[in-house]
Amino acid sequence: MAQKKFKTEVAELLQLIIHSLYSNKEIFLRELVSNSSDALDKLKYRSLTDEKLKGLAFEPRIDLSFTEEGKNRTLTISDNGLGMNEADLGDNLGTIASSGTKKFLASLTEEQKKDSNLIGQFGVGFYSAFMVADRVEVISRKAGEDEAWKWSSTGKGSYSLDKSERDSHGTTITLTLNDEGSEYANRWQIERLIKKYSDHIAYPIFLSYDQTSYDDKKKDDEGNPVKTIEHKVEQINSSSALWRRPKNELTAEQYNEFYKQSSYDSEDPLFYLHTRAEGATEYVTLFYIPKKAPFDMYYADYRPGVKLYVKRVYITDDDKELLPSYLRFVRGVIDSEDLPLNVSREILQQNRVMSAIRTASVKKLLGEFAKLSEQNPELYTTFIEQYNRPLKEGLYSDYANRDALLELVRFKSSTEEGWTSLASYKERMGADQKAIYYITGGKEETLKASPLLAAYKKRGLEVLIMSDDIDDLIVGSIGTYQEVELKAINKSGAVDDLKEEGEKEEKASKEEKELVKKIKKALGDRVKDVVASSRLTDAPAVVVVDENDPTVQMQQLLKAMGQADFEEAKPILEVNVSDPMVQKIAASDDKEYTADLSSVLLDQALLAEGVMPKDPVAFTKKLHSLLSR
Ligand code: ADP
Repeated sequence: MAQKKFKTEVAELLQLIIHSLYSNKEIFLRELVSNSSDALDKLKYRSLTDEKLKGLAFEPRIDLSFTEEGKNRTLTISDNGLGMNEADLGDNLGTIASSGTKKFLASLTEEQKKDSNLIGQFGVGFYSAFMVADRVEVISRKAGEDEAWKWSSTGKGSYSLDKSERDSHGTTITLTLNDEGSEYANRWQIERLIKKYSDHIAYPIFLSYDQTSYDDKKKDDEGNPVKTIEHKVEQINSSSALWRRPKNELTAEQYNEFYKQSSYDSEDPLFYLHTRAEGATEYVTLFYIPKKAPFDMYYADYRPGVKLYVKRVYITDDDKELLPSYLRFVRGVIDSEDLPLNVSREILQQNRVMSAIRTASVKKLLGEFAKLSEQNPELYTTFIEQYNRPLKEGLYSDYANRDALLELVRFKSSTEEGWTSLASYKERMGADQKAIYYITGGKEETLKASPLLAAYKKRGLEVLIMSDDIDDLIVGSIGTYQEVELKAINKSGAVDDLKEEGEKEEKASKEEKELVKKIKKALGDRVKDVVASSRLTDAPAVVVVDENDPTVQMQQLLKAMGQADFEEAKPILEVNVSDPMVQKIAASDDKEYTADLSSVLLDQALLAEGVMPKDPVAFTKKLHSLLSR
């Protein structure tokens, strides 16, 4: 007997499943049936495209049966799908294939590991069988091959893999049920679970069971009614592809159930969108928006959520090109009438039909989001809390839909509660306001406390708080919204902006020029420039960055991400010439004193932006010396 060890992450996953999903153990059947359905999908596809398997008769079915002899109960799930050979069994059932799942596991805290909802978000799949079974045995034979193999394990660190027998291709999984699972060796329980979770599986699921009946008219020798046991095999799912059915025949409950069964989510979706297109290209799409963003949304190797079918034949579920990547949170099905079955990934990408479906689907989805924002603002807020960021990514990756996306994204604002749109900002703008003002480069709280913001607030000008990391990157590419320019108040271009907003220009005096020069000299190459400003009210100084430079916080972020090789962009120090501390610099002749004051002026302005002084010790020393004077 060949005994093999599980990869460590499988052992960990098993522990997690057994302990976390415990309250929802019945999902094991959904997982196993859906694996069988996937295996049938794969075989169907291969039998149409693979020369070696072309002659194969395809009579797909999934069979369930159970036994109960005293305390020994078993449940068997069998399919005539693609099957697995020796290598497949080791690869698929001895390791966790999806690296997203691995990363997700690694990222969980102990607290989160106890949250079964979180765990339920990703496909626990096959291993969930160990919640209800002491032993799991898999006998499988791959289509087109002669050998069958048996995989067997008690889920405790190792499994065995041996030669076996099977009449034809497919997989049979036998669970030796434990105390927790014994209730599932029961006809009514199995029917209930299949109806609940697997009714829309496209293939027939049969249950075989023995029906006992008593005939009152015939008595046995002891006068008891005669007992007959009849063996029955019955289909227990409705096996229709839900998305193919007309909308008016479907209830919200059916839509939601289909979503949960096909997406590993234990919650209902936020909303869904079912479209049938007829005419030049014929296809059906059924899209779902999950209530919570998928856990791997920000991983490079995220698992796409849309499955492609051609005439109900499953083609692929891991094609990242079906929708643009910024819509990677969308789940659901695209089923085309016009694509060839053996469409390859490369062909798919250039295929005219596919690109028409994709373009129309994006339009439909964005249109639906817009409708939602008008008709149900509350739900839209929930949506935005999860998906604002990917939509913003769309602003720089999907130029064709830029205008639609600009209406969808939301920002925080200096004057409004909650989220605001560019459209509503524009509506609130005063008649002579020249630009849409925004501030970027920091957390919401930091930005809201910025001394610059105070100056704008004082003048009744609304400023958008762009506190999302991604805002810095996209706002440049927005440029204008409906012909109104977007302007950063913490960039050099806006230094004199408030003057443009109707305030009278004051000529810089000779003293001011002297002062600026003095501070600049004292700070040397720590700054790009020093400028005098009249827009500051309470603060002595602020840092801004050059129009084309990344913000100071952005630079910190880049550094934290290991991108140390970019050239550091120095800040511009904007000083409030009427501030008493700044006045002191102007009035003093003491070189050391003015140098210390200037340095502290810069450091405290950086601190206000949430940036630590480069040399905190020097900073506190200077501060101390100044305060003690
Ligand atoms: P997932 O289904 O999420 O990939 P599972 O742990 O459920 O993860 O299954 C791992 C893999 O084992 C599947 O991707 C599939 O390749 C294989 N597998 C599981 N069950 C079957 C089956 N009944 N027939 C063929 N292959 C199967």
